[in-house]
Amino acid sequence: MAVILDGKKLRNKLLDKLKFEIEQYGVKPSLAVILVGDDAASQIYVNNKKKTADSLGIKSTVIIYPTTVSEMVLLDKIQELNNDDSVNAILIQLPLPEHIDKQKVINSISPIKDVDCFTLENCGRLATGLKPYVYPCTPKGILLLLDEYGISLDGKHVVIVGRSNLVGKPMALMVLNRNATVTICHSHTKNLKEITKTADVLISAVGEVLIEDDMIKNEGVIVDVGIFRDADGKIRGDVQFDSVSKKSAYISPVPGGVGPMTIASLMINTVDLYKIQNKKSS
Ligand code: NAP
Repeated sequence: MAVILDGKKLRNKLLDKLKFEIEQYGVKPSLAVILVGDDAASQIYVNNKKKTADSLGIKSTVIIYPTTVSEMVLLDKIQELNNDDSVNAILIQLPLPEHIDKQKVINSISPIKDVDCFTLENCGRLATGLKPYVYPCTPKGILLLLDEYGISLDGKHVVIVGRSNLVGKPMALMVLNRNATVTICHSHTKNLKEITKTADVLISAVGEVLIEDDMIKNEGVIVDVGIFRDADGKIRGDVQFDSVSKKSAYISPVPGGVGPMTIASLMINTVDLYKIQNKKSS
């Protein structure tokens, strides 16, 4: 039976430490989140982020716009937040409505306030091996989780299923920077099973049940990023947990694996940007 990569436990440990650190600061770090529309999942994610930030003493503001908001209004608001010294970190909750040029809006965030490493400058830094101001939250959380369990990536074959800008692509660059050999798979990949079976570490970020026990290597490490509700309303990940956990060495559960680590990384990144902007060393 696999060891569970317990994201909830590690999140609690990291956030306890962060709370203590924040208590030492006179002026509190601050995070602004922009939410457009009434997508139920996005509202839950944003509420969770705000609740966590508030519990740590991070000042959080959620700015909500209707789906009909214009691109110009969003760009003006981001400019205002960029110029506001009391705001350290800016997050745009995705998805944005179709009529908004997502890349243009994301890229208008000042790179030094770009808490999820979305902007072209920070993505370029990541791709070229330079350090972005902070690393993207979900891949960063996954690496923190693997580190906690002493799982080294050096020389390992890491297979990532999913190539989104949010997860798959930055994850690939970050494990490459850890000297892994990386394969990225997606919906056009042929013989997916033959590739995933060779993974020392398999990271699945798809959003549907996909990974079965005949698709994994014996004693492999399985990281399940996917999170969605099935037809019965149950929260699910990409991996068939019951069968895969019998064959793998480590596995992250859904819920309680990568999700809590993403929120922890968002909080850590907010404080890191605060420190960079205020030139604090610890
Ligand atoms: P996305 O933008 O929809 O990307 C999904 C990726 O999966 C795409 O690259 C797609 O390939 C690939 N794919 C779809 N069907 C496939 C198949 N049958 N075989 C192989 N690849 C397939 O999603 P995302 O934003 O990366 O998120 C992925 C999942 O992770 C979602 O469930 C999301 O809710 C979850 N997520 C969780 C966290 C967390 O903190 N736990 C954070 C972010 C995302 P193409 O590129 O060819 O279309």
